[in-house]
Amino acid sequence: MNLVKINFDRCKECGYCIKFCPKGCLSKGDKINKRGYYPPVYDATNCIACGSCARMCPDTVLTVYKDVDVQ
Ligand code: SF4
Ligand code: SF4
Repeated sequence: MNLVKINFDRCKECGYCIKFCPKGCLSKGDKINKRGYYPPVYDATNCIACGSCARMCPDTVLTVYKDVDVQ
């Protein structure tokens, strides 16, 4: 499966990752980080590991892993 890791406290809630994910894997979160922002929530179900979210993020919050083994 594919996986996107979120560096939770780096996020500034700009929303670019949500807007530019072609598969709708990222959505607005409801947990606040230490900077006072609400980072996105990720659902791996339809993720194709295209990397768009990570490329659009201005704060290098997201790291994309393709075909990882999750036990
Ligand atoms: S890697 Fe692509 S499909 Fe997966 S969450 Fe990011 S933008 Fe969406
Ligand atoms: S693009 Fe980066 S900073 Fe903006 S909401 Fe997404 S993870 Fe947060």
